[in-house]
Amino acid sequence: MLIEITGRCEPRCPEDHAMPGDAGDFDPDVLGEVLPVLRSLGVSALVMTGGEPILHPRFGELLALSCRDGCRLGLRSHGWQVPEYLQAFAPYRERIAHVLLTLRGPAARAHNGASPAAGDFVRIVEAIDGYRQAGYAVIVDHVVDEQTMGHLTALGEFLAPRSITLHLRAAVPAQGGAEPAWPAGPAARSALIAQIHALKQILSERIVLEPSLGVNHSYNFCSNFAVMDKILLRANGSVVFCHRCRPSDRSAVLGNLRDDTLRAILGHHPARVGAIWSARLAAMAAEPPAIRNNCAFCQDTLRATKPT
Ligand code: SF4
Repeated sequence: MLIEITGRCEPRCPEDHAMPGDAGDFDPDVLGEVLPVLRSLGVSALVMTGGEPILHPRFGELLALSCRDGCRLGLRSHGWQVPEYLQAFAPYRERIAHVLLTLRGPAARAHNGASPAAGDFVRIVEAIDGYRQAGYAVIVDHVVDEQTMGHLTALGEFLAPRSITLHLRAAVPAQGGAEPAWPAGPAARSALIAQIHALKQILSERIVLEPSLGVNHSYNFCSNFAVMDKILLRANGSVVFCHRCRPSDRSAVLGNLRDDTLRAILGHHPARVGAIWSARLAAMAAEPPAIRNNCAFCQDTLRATKPT
């Protein structure tokens, strides 16, 4: 389960990471209320996301609450405030499952391509090294699309000495943007699978394929939503169907913690999952069959099946 701790972003950050929709700050009292429910549902790990989570004015309180009762905690960071995080994490060292940082390429040019900040790549690599040297597990998140596919092997070679885990996922559309170019044709899929095999050799199996990639032995669908751990609790109280959905799209919102209990809101999840699987199977069965492995399709289906 992902918890958007705050919509606040590091002012020095050159990118627009802010979650849209005036996310605000997650209320520690609300977290105290939902944690027992999550534990009763078998959730034993949370991932803090943002914005930059440590910018929440009551971050220490949220950290202590999240690590209580044996819960494990992951952090999605944009690579800022590393010394501050290390200091905050020290009392909970055994509870910190991983720190996840995003790298778009194996060198400054590949990483900074879309970003005007020349120092961005250096900062992320320094953050990776800082967390690794402090003994924390680091996951490097990397988005695969038609442009980035070509440097996967180089990325693996760059990261291999750092003993990180590489997490590959599909690109999702930016707010209001077009659907990203996805390696959907047979030749592109074969090339991607060959690169993944090469990466497994380089990284000694330290590679995770997010279901959004659709590289699976049994189906070619993103199944990010198939387990509840991809649900996002937003700082403004809304509970979003899949953390990669555009959070401003109201059809992806299952409910709001200000209006309803978490247990009641989660009760809406299975029906929405079923609607998407059905719509995808119908698309596959159509003539000609269509691959529907993208967020836009999910959101169209959610919009069309939103309960009144
Ligand atoms: S919105 Fe749909 S396609 Fe996008 S990541 Fe979530 S489950 Fe996958």
